[in-house]
Amino acid sequence: MFKTIKLTTIVYVLAAVVLVGALTPAFVIAGRKPKETPAFSEKPRTVVVLDAGHGGDDPGVTGVRTGVKESDLNLKTALVLGDILSSAGYKAVQTRLTEGSTAEGAFDKDADMQARKAVIERANPAAVISLHLNKYEDASRRGIQVFYSTDASEALATAMQKHLNDKMNVPTLGRGFEPIRGDYYIAQCTDAPSIIIECGFLSSPIDEALVTDASYRLRLASEIEAGLTAYLAE
Ligand SMILES: [Zn+2]
Repeated sequence: MFKTIKLTTIVYVLAAVVLVGALTPAFVIAGRKPKETPAFSEKPRTVVVLDAGHGGDDPGVTGVRTGVKESDLNLKTALVLGDILSSAGYKAVQTRLTEGSTAEGAFDKDADMQARKAVIERANPAAVISLHLNKYEDASRRGIQVFYSTDASEALATAMQKHLNDKMNVPTLGRGFEPIRGDYYIAQCTDAPSIIIECGFLSSPIDEALVTDASYRLRLASEIEAGLTAYLAE
């Protein structure tokens, strides 16, 4: 008798479960779905503007041995950094995607800089990173240096320079640098933290060989992404 009651109870419970399942409105089931969607897909991505310095009729500095144009190398570094940032979950916005200038029409340096500012304003980024290569009369001068203009950019400049010192400058040169503050259009045309990274000296045959090597640019771009991520996590 006891067993019979228990079996009967089980049958009733199972029937009730099946009935409730069949009668559950579709919207109740559908309503549960958003909670199962991973949260990261709903989070807006952090926007970073990448500015490949120079372009068009403005080649920037040129390589001491090969004559390679700074503008072309800046673009290559900006594009690989953009890929790395996208893979890390950022939205990377480039001021230029070609070897031409940012502004359309006949080349005009002021119009080009204004066009870059307009890209930054539209993007409303968490950070701006402008990529350049340096030049100095002494061919032995080497290394990666960060420049900035505003108080809002100081923490990013300091964090980025420290990271690039630790990972690149100290291991290869045996020394680091302090970030340098000055008047630079791209670094002060926005309220967002904005820095210029001079990724090496094209007046140095050693730095020139490094920055013309794609695997070196990939490594440098990875460290710039790591430096940015470390700064944004602070
Ligand atoms: Zn430059």
